[in-house]
Amino acid sequence: MAASTSTHCRWCSAVNCSNSKNKRPDLSFFRFPAEHELCKVWVINTRRADLEEKSFEHLHKNNYLCAEHFEPCCFSKTATSRARLINGAVPTIFNVPNPPPKLTPSQPPPKVRNDDDLFDVPPTSSTQQYSPPPIPDSKSTPSFHEEDRESLKRKLCAERAKNWRLKKKLKLCHENTSTRKSTPGVSEKSTSLIQVGKALSSYL
Ligand SMILES: [Zn+2]
Repeated sequence: MAASTSTHCRWCSAVNCSNSKNKRPDLSFFRFPAEHELCKVWVINTRRADLEEKSFEHLHKNNYLCAEHFEPCCFSKTATSRARLINGAVPTIFNVPNPPPKLTPSQPPPKVRNDDDLFDVPPTSSTQQYSPPPIPDSKSTPSFHEEDRESLKRKLCAERAKNWRLKKKLKLCHENTSTRKSTPGVSEKSTSLIQVGKALSSYL
């Protein structure tokens, strides 16, 4: 009679878990173990202080945990249709702020690390790749200016020579206009040359 009543009300004893056999017939429910020491671990991991006051017999008879609170390593591989827990299986998956430590904590982190590797550059190479280009030292800076000054000097000389030639042409044009005022083309040319000469002299 006791066995029949217990099968009727299989509620999960975990905090924030509302699973029951009626609600989830597909889900396996496990009695709290008869072994006292193991039962104590279950109670501690379940994080329910009220269960600590209950006797081991009472817990074994009336309290269950659903399969969602057990890591895959807790299940027997030999089980055919019904999920079975291995001897000494301990529940570790609980929706509480301070869940018990996982039995297999090393499994999920490598997957996350692999995903990161796909998108992130390893820290060692990133520091080498993104290091700023070497800043020119004090010795190389004046030589650069020296080169610049030389090229500017050459440019200035060339411009001066151009200016001198233009001035000469302008002088000739002035002479021509003074002698032959009738030719309009020459006067136009001369005014434009005057403008060029003025612009150049202001530039220099
Ligand atoms: Zn549950």
